[in-house]
Parts: sequence; C-alpha cells; structure tokens
Amino acid sequence: EKAALEAFRGKETATADGVHKVLAVNIGGPGDVPAALEHDGEAIGLFRTEFLFMDATSLPTEEEQFQAYQNVALALKGAPVIIRTLDVGGDKEIPYLKLQKEDNPFMGYRAVRYCLDNPDEYKVQLRALLRASAFGDIKIMVPLVTCMEELRQVKALVEECKSELDAEGVDYNKDIEVGVMMETAAAANIADLLADEAAFFSIGTNDLTGYTMASDRGNDKVAYLYSWYYPAVLRAIKKIIVSGVEKGIMVGMCGEAAADPLLTPLLISWGMEEFSVSAPSVLRTRKTISQWTKADADALEEKVIQLKTAEEVKAALEEASRK
Ligand code: PEP
Ligand code: MG
Repeated sequence: EKAALEAFRGKETATADGVHKVLAVNIGGPGDVPAALEHDGEAIGLFRTEFLFMDATSLPTEEEQFQAYQNVALALKGAPVIIRTLDVGGDKEIPYLKLQKEDNPFMGYRAVRYCLDNPDEYKVQLRALLRASAFGDIKIMVPLVTCMEELRQVKALVEECKSELDAEGVDYNKDIEVGVMMETAAAANIADLLADEAAFFSIGTNDLTGYTMASDRGNDKVAYLYSWYYPAVLRAIKKIIVSGVEKGIMVGMCGEAAADPLLTPLLISWGMEEFSVSAPSVLRTRKTISQWTKADADALEEKVIQLKTAEEVKAALEEASRK
C-alpha cells in the first residue's frame, strides 16, 4: 500500500479523465510546513493561526505574526497559502483574552464575531497578512461567517489596512483575495449570495457537520448524528460547491471530510477544485481522485443525492468505492 502510494509522489492531481485538482495541506504554523512539503502537498489550504495565539501569553505583535506568515509564504514559493484569521472560542480557548464563560460557546462570541468586535486587534492580524502577501500567494480566509454583513465588514477593514500601508509606503499584494470558510448552516443557505462577494470558499466540514446536525461530536449521547453522510450535510456541501462553481470562484474543502475517500466522487461531481488535508493524507487523496472520471462520479451522485438516510448513503458510497 505504501509503495503504491509512492507512485503518486510528484504527480499532478487529476481525475481519471484529466480534470486538474489542487491537493493542499492543513497546517497550524510554520513548523508544519516541512512535513506538508515532504508529503508532496501542493499548497496550504488552511493555516490555523490560532496556534500563534494559543502558544503565547499575550497577543502576538504585528511583527511576530508577519514573520510567521512570511515564513510560510516564502516556503511555498508562490503556491497558494490560505490563512484563516483568528478562530477563537468554541473549542479554541485563549486564556489571556479573558473571555467570559458562556452557556453555549459554540453559538457565542467567537471567531469573526470576536474579531469584528475588536477591530484594533483584528487589524494587527490583517496588516501582518497584507505585509506578508508581498512574499507569496497569501489569501485571507474568514472563519464562522453567517451573513454577508460580516464578510463586508472584514473586507472594509482590509481596505482600511491597505490605506494605512499605502500611506506608510509598505508593499503588499493589492489584489489579495478574501474568502469565506463555509462552516455554518447559515453560510451554506446563502452560498449563492456569498459567492458574489467572496473571492473563494473553503468548506469547513468539521463545524458544518456539527452546526447542520445540531450535534456536538464530543457528546457521546448525540455523536451518532455527527456525520457528513446525512443527507442534510451532503446537501449543504453540494449547495456550497455548486453555488461557488456557478459564480466562478474557487471552492475547496479543509475539513476532515476532504480526506474521506468515500466522499471524493461526490466532490468531483459537484466540481470542487481544492482538497486540503493533513500531510499524511496527501498521496492517498491524490490516488482516490485519480480513480474517478467525472462521468462515473456524476452517475454515483445522481443516485446518492436521492437517498434518505446516512446509512443508505454510506452503504452506496462504500459499494462504489470497492468497484
Ligand atoms: C472545520 O471546521 O472544518 C475546520 C477545518 O476548522 P477547525 O477544525 O479548525 O474548526
Ligand atoms: Mg471550524
């Protein structure tokens, strides 16, 4: 198996009928880049910046953040690097921010909500990202978006930072892309609208599954509901991909589902372009993608999208994967 996978090292990621895909890697910081490249990742599809914040005892400065982002941009030598802005709250605690305990933290004050409520802190990160964008293909990704207002407010802050940098004579990529992490049921429902103003989508299936099924996977009693084989989750994913493809923006996936070989044909059928997985999953995912033609994937999709239960969906996908 390992030797068979090695045959995919250095190969283009493409379907059996030659549709090109991008195989990217999820990282938590510059320290994860060597493994990403060693496993033959082509890009960074998710840089979770909260580790920069969680590993510190106070907010990292603009300079500290700039160095981390620049480091990754340089190491990727012009390949895309999608950097997610601070995703605090929910399962990600940063003690020195001294956030109040909440009864329902997953529905509370977190991620883009916290950042927009603290624009001076947020601008430190956005300035660092803009400055680093002069050294590679950095794209900004906004987590936990639920409405257009949030995307517009973030983009306005980015413009404010650009004006400041212009005034200071600091270089940055004037066309830097601002995209949305699609991980709430709300965002999925308005994917067609968001696609008009987002530069790209990346589907965060870890949270999208939980928010769509109203199920906390850490809770044993309801964990059985936490599965992307439920038609509700599949249809949310489909709506996101199809909406993005229709509007001509790049659509990727950076949640765990991107590395699920059972799901690969559906993602191919819907036209998803970028798969972002953990480093050890790169070659296996490239292999799975190479085993499907668009026509075969479409035929399977037509059948699976009509199924009514997660069990039926999983069984159908398993059967197809054995062929
Ligand atoms: C996700 O929600 O799918 C995701 C990739 O982000 P995280 O796991 O960091 O919440
Ligand atoms: Mg998430």
